[in-house]
Amino acid sequence: MKIYNTLTRRKEEFTPLEPGKVKIYTCGPTVYAYAHIGNFRSYVFSDIMRRTFEYLGYQVRQVMNITDVGHLTTDEVGTDKLELGAAREGKTPEEIARFYEKAFFEDAAKLNIQKPHITCRATEHIQDMIALIRRIEANGFAYHTKVGLIFDTMKYQDYARLGRLKLDEQKAGARVDVDPDRKNPSDFALWITNQPKHLMQWDSPWGKGFPSWHIECSAMSIKYLGERFDIHTGGVDHIPVHHTNEKAQNFAATGKEVVRYWVHGAFLTLGVTRMGKSEGNLVTISELESQGFEPAAFRYLCLTALYRSPLNFTEKSLKSAQNSLHGLLDFGRIASGWPEHEDSSWLKPYQEEFRSAVADDLNVPQALAVVWNLVHKANKQPDRNTWNTILDFDRVLGLGLKHLLSITSPVPEEVRRLAQEREQARTRKDWAEADRLRGRITELGYAIEDTPKGPRLKPQP
Ligand SMILES: [Zn+2]
Repeated sequence: MKIYNTLTRRKEEFTPLEPGKVKIYTCGPTVYAYAHIGNFRSYVFSDIMRRTFEYLGYQVRQVMNITDVGHLTTDEVGTDKLELGAAREGKTPEEIARFYEKAFFEDAAKLNIQKPHITCRATEHIQDMIALIRRIEANGFAYHTKVGLIFDTMKYQDYARLGRLKLDEQKAGARVDVDPDRKNPSDFALWITNQPKHLMQWDSPWGKGFPSWHIECSAMSIKYLGERFDIHTGGVDHIPVHHTNEKAQNFAATGKEVVRYWVHGAFLTLGVTRMGKSEGNLVTISELESQGFEPAAFRYLCLTALYRSPLNFTEKSLKSAQNSLHGLLDFGRIASGWPEHEDSSWLKPYQEEFRSAVADDLNVPQALAVVWNLVHKANKQPDRNTWNTILDFDRVLGLGLKHLLSITSPVPEEVRRLAQEREQARTRKDWAEADRLRGRITELGYAIEDTPKGPRLKPQP
């Protein structure tokens, strides 16, 4: 298995800390509004990663945080996003958090994103954060200002490495306006105090206050995965600040590099802008559904691009993904009625090709190409094991093909048989017979459409 490590900017051979096991921490949602499809592209990516490791025989332990305090609209000077949501909807921050956490997991389930083995809420781990901050402070990496306890980034030599930051060019901006005692522009708060209007506050050795977003992920990842673990995932937007600060805190507390591979997913773009919550161009999973798209079609769209490449979202690209998904299901309907070949060894090269595609830094577009090559080949060589093989591939793709097939009306046996006979007639170039069979299929209420991806059966309205 090869994986691209943001830390080295290289595709590296993955070696687990413990043989046969992979520990993954995934930066989770801030639950103050509905997650949009840009967020979900990132979770589809981490889900594909987990599924790939499982497919390759690893035992995976995945942990994801739920941020329900401490994530501010602007770093350290803004409003807590949860309190923003609470003000917007006339609810308490806790009501907002639980509501949107539930909505997040419902949408994730629609996309077949597997639930992490452990999900942890920030508000339920305040004592773990305080304990970690105490270690950071005891090791001499922190100082006090009127904002709270601040991390001294100059004490950590490797601070700029993950984000390839040019610290000497950083300007003392907004942070200095609110905190003139800040030593360096890149320094950041561990624990924030003196914010009497903030609703969620806890006692701490540094006064009443609340943790910053960055310390949450350090504290919870170390608590559940240990002081060394394999992979940390997130979006590329996390690299320069959130993950850079997490890495610095981890080192300051433990004296070790806790994370071995930092892996980041690229953005989903909408037209020319990237999809972010501040830009007012959000699309949610329910909005896609109300426009007649299946969530699985969006997942299929995500599979068409490498996780490290930006993916442009348009209605056209989603439609095309949905068509491909339906084409695959049509094939499944036909192929699941085929007899099994006595010898299915012809499938082996496809299985190997699929496996090596996903093991090569999650090259899912390549893996999808293998699926379609197999479909083409199978139309000339009907064998039910083709479909079984594709269902096996779906353990990685996660489209939920078996389920989708079971909830859509099956094509009758006779129609499938006729379609198969027609394919054989076409293969031997017996066009008259092929036309006759098409006529029979039409009489039975089905249309057959020849696409570059093979014949498709559709019920006639
Ligand atoms: Zn995080």
